[in-house]
Amino acid sequence: MVDIHALVRPHIRDLKPYSSARDEYTGSEGVFLDANENALGSITERPWNRYPDPYQRTLKAKVAELKGVAPEQLFLGNGSDEPIDLLFRAFCEPKTDHVIINPPTYGMYQVSADIHQVEAKAVPLTTDFQLDVEGITSLWNAQTKMIFICSPNNPTGNEMPYAQVEQVLKNFHGLVVVDEAYIDFSESPSWIQRLEEFPNLVVLQTFSKAWGLAGLRLGMAFASAEILGFLNKIKAPYNLSGLVQETVLEALNHVEKKDEMVAQLLQNKQALEADLKGLPFVQKVYPSDANFFLVKMKDAKAIFNRLIAQKIIVRDRSGVLLCEDGLRITVGTSQENHTLVEALKAL
Ligand SMILES: *Cc1c(COP(=O)(O)O)cnc(C)c1O
Repeated sequence: MVDIHALVRPHIRDLKPYSSARDEYTGSEGVFLDANENALGSITERPWNRYPDPYQRTLKAKVAELKGVAPEQLFLGNGSDEPIDLLFRAFCEPKTDHVIINPPTYGMYQVSADIHQVEAKAVPLTTDFQLDVEGITSLWNAQTKMIFICSPNNPTGNEMPYAQVEQVLKNFHGLVVVDEAYIDFSESPSWIQRLEEFPNLVVLQTFSKAWGLAGLRLGMAFASAEILGFLNKIKAPYNLSGLVQETVLEALNHVEKKDEMVAQLLQNKQALEADLKGLPFVQKVYPSDANFFLVKMKDAKAIFNRLIAQKIIVRDRSGVLLCEDGLRITVGTSQENHTLVEALKAL
């Protein structure tokens, strides 16, 4: 059984968090002379002179309802980067603890680990980009605090088999962080449906991809109230601006717009896949459950540079483990995809 209380760093467990003015009085009516705000207003037309809700209660209630979880099972952060950073801070003792990552994968886990002086032990994916569960299992010990599983995985595009993730969740004594940044493009159910079953499960999602809100910076972490209690304790008091909270709250009245965009992108994706597969120098378009493809092609690096020269920018992954000669190509508009394919044909 996973004991979160024992897993968290002792000084974080015992930390007395900062208590903001908006923590100490949560009502919305009254004469507010407690936070040293500018009582006259702001220099813009909007009343940004007031501090935002530190726990984003209104927004959180709405997102939680949409996702079918309790508000206590949801943490909202400044991108997914924030909960990743907070998880390291809450659970990993620098120079002592370590985490496990499964490269090729999202680079932020390694960077966050490096920032915190926590070793990220790598258990590479198999050549067909599945988890090496045996390798993971044989590596973990009492100092392993987290395992990061990206599904669908960036940059390979595939999702990790449900049974493999379940095996890790059931047997690992630490946190299993499943990053579902691309889940809206996949047919598979989210792991958030199984939060109650696995007290060591943390699921990351984001508004940056399917929702088209990368510029706002809003990430989600789903986990038990106990785990999120520690993240809330150590986060910056006002981690999400009022502008973000208000804008996304409004955007949530238009969920159908997100669904339409996802449907459109999936349609574009199908067409792009067919076009890419028709190119003679393309060796493999890897199966994708996301809004991008990893494409293996002859002389990927040279092709990347020739595309750049035409101001067509894809992501060069040719230097990445198991992605040799691989470019990561995001699905664009039909026009953008057409431009890309025509440029590739003309090479
Ligand atoms: C894009 C992406 C994210 C999103 O990060 P944000 O900070 O929320 O924009 C998270 N994880 C992976 C694997 C991604 O590719």
